[in-house]
Amino acid sequence: MLKIVVKRAEIRITGIVQGIGFRPFIYNLAKTYSVCGWVLNNENGVFIDAESEDGNLDRFVTDIPALAPPLARIESFDVRYLEPVGRATFEIRKSEEAENKFVLISPDVATCDQCLSELSSPQDVRYRYPFINCTLCGPRFTIIKDIPYDRQKTTMAPFVMCRLCRKEYEDPADRRFHAQPNACPVCGPSLLLEDEEGSPVSGDPIETTLTLLRKGSIVAIKGLGGFHLACDARNQDVVSALRSRKFREDKPFAVMCRDIEEVKEHCEVDGEEERLLTSVERPIVILRRKRDSGIAPSVAPYQNTLGMMLPYTPLHHLLLNDSFRALVMTSGNVSDEPIAYRDGEARNRLKKIADYFLYHNREIHTRCDDSVTRIFEGRPYILRRSRGYVPFPVKLSFPIEKILACGGELKSTFCLTRDAYAFVSHHIGDLENLETLTSFEEGIKHFKRLFFIEPRAVAHDLHPDYLSTQYAFSIEGIPKVGIQHHHAHIASGMAENGIEGEVIGVALDGTGFGPDGTVWGGEFIKANFKEFDRMAHLKKVPMPGGSKAIQEPWRMGMVYLTEAFGEETDSLTIDFMKRVDMQEWNILKRMIEKKINTPWTSSMGRLFDAVSSILSIRDEVHYEGQAAIELEMILDHGVREEYSFQIRKNERPMGIDPSEIIRGVVGDLRNGVNPSRISGKFHRTIARLIVETCEEIRREEQLNRVVLSGGVFQNIFLLSLVTKGLRESGFETYTHHLVPANDGGISLGQAVIGHMKLFQ
Ligand SMILES: [Zn+2]
Ligand SMILES: [Zn+2]
Repeated sequence: MLKIVVKRAEIRITGIVQGIGFRPFIYNLAKTYSVCGWVLNNENGVFIDAESEDGNLDRFVTDIPALAPPLARIESFDVRYLEPVGRATFEIRKSEEAENKFVLISPDVATCDQCLSELSSPQDVRYRYPFINCTLCGPRFTIIKDIPYDRQKTTMAPFVMCRLCRKEYEDPADRRFHAQPNACPVCGPSLLLEDEEGSPVSGDPIETTLTLLRKGSIVAIKGLGGFHLACDARNQDVVSALRSRKFREDKPFAVMCRDIEEVKEHCEVDGEEERLLTSVERPIVILRRKRDSGIAPSVAPYQNTLGMMLPYTPLHHLLLNDSFRALVMTSGNVSDEPIAYRDGEARNRLKKIADYFLYHNREIHTRCDDSVTRIFEGRPYILRRSRGYVPFPVKLSFPIEKILACGGELKSTFCLTRDAYAFVSHHIGDLENLETLTSFEEGIKHFKRLFFIEPRAVAHDLHPDYLSTQYAFSIEGIPKVGIQHHHAHIASGMAENGIEGEVIGVALDGTGFGPDGTVWGGEFIKANFKEFDRMAHLKKVPMPGGSKAIQEPWRMGMVYLTEAFGEETDSLTIDFMKRVDMQEWNILKRMIEKKINTPWTSSMGRLFDAVSSILSIRDEVHYEGQAAIELEMILDHGVREEYSFQIRKNERPMGIDPSEIIRGVVGDLRNGVNPSRISGKFHRTIARLIVETCEEIRREEQLNRVVLSGGVFQNIFLLSLVTKGLRESGFETYTHHLVPANDGGISLGQAVIGHMKLFQ
């Protein structure tokens, strides 16, 4: 007779394993393998006691990490074998979680395949129901008002579950067991279509919306984290109308495509990009645009890329399934304001833009923009980290004190830390007005409550005028610590890569407050988590008019030409000079001489601006970084030549003088070289300059690890060249994959440096 061996195991799992359908998953897996025992949530994670016949128990144990729900992040998985006790059933036991225990909270998750198939099957009670969801998908972070994560503490509270929904919710075997936003057409949220006057439009809201979009209307559509402005992406007239009504002169709009095949109609998509587009996070992915794409040109003027995303709510699927293969889905805001997310404010703020409003009556608690990403070296490279990613923390390689870091000014985020977690906030926006400041303050309050973090210190930028710095100053009773902008960039890159000790940091961006009173931005530092030394930087130049010089790159063009050519500048025979208003320039020259409103800067962003303008690409910008982005867009990737430059090796810090680069550019222009080739040569030169500066620092400091950070590294071509050049020279290189290289990432670095300075 065959002897049946029964085995019993105690399994402890930590990580992100709660509130994401883990227990029903375990329950169903137990059923599959006839495993008896129980599962429960406790303050450490998930605790399982399981017994079954030998082979089945082993399969159960191996399948847990292998088949875990998509949102699970298993950090530890411990199995201990015990004497069997002869259980006969498997149950989900009541949680051991004590009150006020800290657990991780899930981001919003794209509609899962099972829900999608129900959505499209006429027999299903949720056929074409725009709010279908389950334990594996649906709204989370944006509807959570408080913890513990429970329906009563979400914006689903006003909807009382019907019998069917309640039954699913209470049945451990059901895939909607404890799905807090569970809803159906009988008991859940519903849609409402209104015209711009606020009068309801009769008929089926989805069908009518589609008809309106087909006719060329702009419809404000309430989504997960805010309103989108939607219109037909192939209709040039309506896209141009949207552009002018939004005052978004050149900034690209995101496009939502029906499916991956449609994305491939318009863009080149490789395997990694496809994986990112179809991931549960469903970010916008920046892709190379195909020349013959049918998307209206004014969706992304002056760009050879398109920001594409796939539907992530049931409503998106319903809108895109039949009628439309591609819709513009851009943030519901005017110009640089934050995205509208409450019905009343959307009505007020968007009524001059949208012809119609498609509302739903599930409130959005936290405003959360779409995330923006691209792929670099086969991994996600995040430009804006928000919906789908937040509030998952960045895991640090060491425990950290509870700290609030207030971030910078543009693309602002904040960061709160505890244990080994850094909770980097959703994208707040440019902290320049009351609206964003309120969003910032409310966000901090919300995160403090959600994760039980009462900060013991506050870290902030050194810039005294940033609203984030002033907010930090207003907090009483805890120590405050100012962190240099570029040091924060590099520390952020170190923290997310789990590296410690001393590194060479290359932080290149537009603007960051320097302790010497100048504007930094072309910085090579020796850094650890506590301190930094400025080893080299781009030579300082005047910035006549301060922020005006950022908006008008031609000013920097003249500044750099003057640096390179002195008195001869005025007689240069290039197109750029024909456009310069010499009267205005003479006024600016006097401002520089008299030191009126003229900060000095070592910013790499300003050098890119200058070259962009000298090449007649852009003299004035309408959004941050535009001149540099357009300089990248036209570049000829095939160019191999470089310009020369000078590193002043005997200065401390070393000065990097780009005058020869400028002379080279002008020489090429005079010889009729195509601006695309010049841009290619310029990019190669900057990459070479970075590598050589790092080599120089290595010679002195014996450091071999280089961290690349700052907004300039959103330029993927430059990033690739630099990474390749550094590796060929034997360096280990690190850059960002979890938080943005731009200022959206500095709050993480601030928190870590603050911790080291104050508590280590
Ligand atoms: Zn689902
Ligand atoms: Zn229901």
